[in-house]
Amino acid sequence: MEPRSIARVFLIAGLLGPPFSPALADDTPDFGALASRFEHDTLELLRYLHERPELSGREHETRRHLTRTLTAIPGVKLVEGDWGTGVVAWLEGGRPGAAVAWRTDLDGLPITETTGLPYASTARDTLSNGRSTGVMHACGHDMHMAVAVGMMRLLSEVREELPGRVLFIGQPAEEVGAGAEQLLQAGLFEGDRRPRCALAIHVHPTIPFGQVGSCPGPSTANVDGFLLRVVGEGGHGARPHRTIDPVTLAARIVLALQSIVTREIDVNRHCVISVGRIEGGTKSNVIPDEVLIEATVRSHDEETRQALKQKIERTVSGLAAAAGAPDPGLEYYFGTPAGHNDPRLVAECREVFRRVLGEDNEILYDSPMGGEDFSRYGKEVPAFQFRLGVGRPDREMSLHRGDFDPDPRAVRLGMHLAAELVWDQLQRAAAEGGDDLTR
Ligand SMILES: [Zn+2]
Ligand SMILES: [Zn+2]
Repeated sequence: MEPRSIARVFLIAGLLGPPFSPALADDTPDFGALASRFEHDTLELLRYLHERPELSGREHETRRHLTRTLTAIPGVKLVEGDWGTGVVAWLEGGRPGAAVAWRTDLDGLPITETTGLPYASTARDTLSNGRSTGVMHACGHDMHMAVAVGMMRLLSEVREELPGRVLFIGQPAEEVGAGAEQLLQAGLFEGDRRPRCALAIHVHPTIPFGQVGSCPGPSTANVDGFLLRVVGEGGHGARPHRTIDPVTLAARIVLALQSIVTREIDVNRHCVISVGRIEGGTKSNVIPDEVLIEATVRSHDEETRQALKQKIERTVSGLAAAAGAPDPGLEYYFGTPAGHNDPRLVAECREVFRRVLGEDNEILYDSPMGGEDFSRYGKEVPAFQFRLGVGRPDREMSLHRGDFDPDPRAVRLGMHLAAELVWDQLQRAAAEGGDDLTR
């Protein structure tokens, strides 16, 4: 059932008399009505941001516009700090209490938009390799921003009754896995800014509009990888016995890497090794001197993460030795760590989802292998990022594609849910008592 019609059922039931209004049974403000009131302005913000995406670390205009928009909301104050192209702000409630952080990311992607929307992006930028590219909010971060600002508008309306504070985190450079770390290193959670919990959404095209998805426990993957330089000795393709052929060696390495996943790691430990780039040679009858291999390596737990690195090093060195080639240069890196949705926090938030959306619109999903640097906040405080359905029944959509066109009605629902979740967490903190800001 669509949430709007759920609300209508409650409304009609309310006219018939009590008791039938679970969404408004306690003293929770009517965030649904507030979300409808602010929907127009927030959709305008969405379209403005969508039209002007900026690449990671270059979110200057986005930051300026968010700053302008946030400071126009009664009760919102900017937090000064070395946030780069990020923006951090407080909304102070009228009653003392805990702090809850809400994070949105700000960056777009080097993708040319093909949606044909009236507010489609025509922005272009130049990549570090000098290539020109279209820029697009193809990961829905424009919607994340609209939802987060909308939430601040809703909570501002009830700020006199709000028992605590909301920390708005506008984080740059999510797509390159750098922004969260940058903000935390600049002291984001220091002193009285350490929140009881950190919350965020990610829009999701395979979940239909009207639904939300949760994943307690491991929520995103360790995003690691390597660049491998397979070195041989080139020569004529007709006389391979006079060469050390890096092409056949690279081929053996690529296949052997898959055996690590299937033969050497416990099947209950999720992991993936995907070679996304292999490059070498110039001509069919010339055996090259070297071949480059680039791969992403993903896992959920730390033990598997370390084991994969060690097994990849061993496999690569062993196969090179067997071929009589020099030890390949392996540049291995550990990137964004795996995310963890705090199970207690997830359970508390799911109660809110069910209350607002009904049982059928609140779903669980399996731990994915995608990466998200929201994981960094979860290393500091209990954290939960949930999926907001933006799928449309009439078409298949994917994030990171030029035709990504999420259902904009999810903005109203997203800001409604976000306000409810923050309100609920602050109420729980107040009920738990004390000024223990974390738990
Ligand atoms: Zn993305
Ligand atoms: Zn994203």
